[in-house]
Amino acid sequence: MEKVVILGTGPSGLTAAIYLARANMKPIVIEGYQPGGQLTLTTEVENFPGFIDGIMGPELMENMRKQAERFGAEFRRGWVTNVDFSKKPYKLQVNGLGEIETEALILSTGASAKLLNIPGEVGNIGRGVSTCATCDGFFFRGKKVIIVGGGDSAMEEANFLTKFASEVIVVHRRNELRASKIMQDRARNNPKISWQLNKTPIEVLAGEKGVTGFKVLNNETNEEEIIQTDGIFVAIGHTPNTAFLNGQIDTDETGYINVVPGTTETNIPGVFACGDVQDKKYRQAITAAGTGCMAALDAEKYLEENSVHDWSKSL
Ligand code: NAP
Repeated sequence: MEKVVILGTGPSGLTAAIYLARANMKPIVIEGYQPGGQLTLTTEVENFPGFIDGIMGPELMENMRKQAERFGAEFRRGWVTNVDFSKKPYKLQVNGLGEIETEALILSTGASAKLLNIPGEVGNIGRGVSTCATCDGFFFRGKKVIIVGGGDSAMEEANFLTKFASEVIVVHRRNELRASKIMQDRARNNPKISWQLNKTPIEVLAGEKGVTGFKVLNNETNEEEIIQTDGIFVAIGHTPNTAFLNGQIDTDETGYINVVPGTTETNIPGVFACGDVQDKKYRQAITAAGTGCMAALDAEKYLEENSVHDWSKSL
């Protein structure tokens, strides 16, 4: 049996690992198919405190991982397919690792940005296609960019991008926006934002230096059109990675884990959630790291008060 297992190796999971390892709790960290999480998909991270000249996303994650290993965190590669929280110790079925039993568990499996799944999209991530305006907007100073989507995220990111871009075009597949009225009004009142509504994305066009245009279908005329652009920000929502929990943890209607406000406690004692899997509002590396720290402290306290095993004999 393990004392504490951490699922996920983004900033929240790795921060939890650093804190727990440093507290001599010997955490086991399970890393899935995308070790390091969403930050490994970005290029330079300029807003993580402590790096005056910025740091590459993959390097930041590699550093966090090495820091956790230095204090004794153990990393295992596997994919959790099922969990059993019906009785303690909790059981995890992990592809490649078999069954793992643990007294405490930290869920830091993150959320994945939804993609359009059109030609040219994935191959140009980091070359003009981005799923994070906060991360990458700065690189589009004085340029013309597109934001795809009609929800609150798209409106918020469109407004944010006008701080850098010369022109921001919202491309949305319907005539009506899904966003709340206040967010819509804010975007509509921004003179740098223009609108291409009722246009369905078809293809990302790119040259040697990156994105050059966006091919869309005009749903009114049924004709294809090309919008010239230097960058395409996809803001069509995120999916929290909670499907493997099979409904055994309380989530909201969109799958984000509910935590007791001000803590990382879920409805299952000893199971904690941190990072984007429980946060659909901020979604930043630094906020994820912050909640990772909280989860480690919450788990440590839980184990002090509830552990049935005398770990001092086995550590
Ligand atoms: P969302 O509300 O689900 O909106 C996603 C948008 O993307 C929709 O307009 C949708 O079009 C479009 N879309 C989805 N799949 C698409 C595809 N394959 N091709 C083209 N367009 C596609 O997601 P969100 O904007 O990320 O917001 C998620 C939640 O966070 C919401 O509850 C939102 O209110 C909240 N949020 C709040 C704030 C804030 O209050 N400051 C900021 C951001 C997010 P359709 O409309 O046609 O379906």
